[in-house]
Amino acid sequence: MSLKNNLFALALSTMIWHSPVHADEPSWNYADQDQPGGWGAIEGAETPPPYNYPYAECAIGEKQTPVEIGNVRKTPVNGVTFNWQPFRADFYNTGYAIQAQPVAPDAYSGTTKVGRDSYRLVQAHLHSPSEHTLNGKRYDAEMHFVNDRGDGGLTVVGLMIELGRPNEQVQLMLDNTVNTPGSPTHNPTRIVFEPKKLLPRGTGSGKFFTYSGSLTTPPCTEGVNWYVYEKPITISSGQLSALKAFYDGNYRYLQQLNGRQLMTNK
Ligand SMILES: [Zn+2]
Repeated sequence: MSLKNNLFALALSTMIWHSPVHADEPSWNYADQDQPGGWGAIEGAETPPPYNYPYAECAIGEKQTPVEIGNVRKTPVNGVTFNWQPFRADFYNTGYAIQAQPVAPDAYSGTTKVGRDSYRLVQAHLHSPSEHTLNGKRYDAEMHFVNDRGDGGLTVVGLMIELGRPNEQVQLMLDNTVNTPGSPTHNPTRIVFEPKKLLPRGTGSGKFFTYSGSLTTPPCTEGVNWYVYEKPITISSGQLSALKAFYDGNYRYLQQLNGRQLMTNK
């Protein structure tokens, strides 16, 4: 931490995550992580101090994602039930990842139940290589399923991806996402995407790791409930190459646990 970063960290220590990040949010890129203060030091153009650091949470947050999944504690913990229906997909190149989401999100009824809480599946996207590491291993890719409780609460389900048999749902994403890296482009289609087919057999009762973390992209919002499954899914080497042709290196660096205890169900 530089002096400058310490100063702005002090200034922003009472800032909450949903402070102004609006239409004028500044752009960022993965290489910014190498700069002092990382994404937290990116200044906004039109907001006065101390709010001119709209991504401050990325630097001063203490419950950030991703993390190394190594030291875990087996404990009774809420399980996950996936009630994911197929949906007509909008294949979205966000500028940072390729993503599949329902063309009609309000009409989509696919839900993820965590304990008694029901979340709606809103989108699935890919990082390569993986963001989490598992016992020090970084996988070829990682898929994130973002689920929204409707009151700001988020659960993200992470699946590790390694090389093996090709994956037909990933292929749909590769085939139908507009290839304009760095330029957000939607491609709403009539193609039916079946997110449940991405889950390894028995995923709901499979071994997972859970902890409280954040979004892995600016504004790095905390309070995100993470479930990362131990069993990886596979894509072919050709699919990995095609994925990397969109984005190669769209992963955030590992973050400190700062006292958090990762929990596992098995
Ligand atoms: Zn992600």
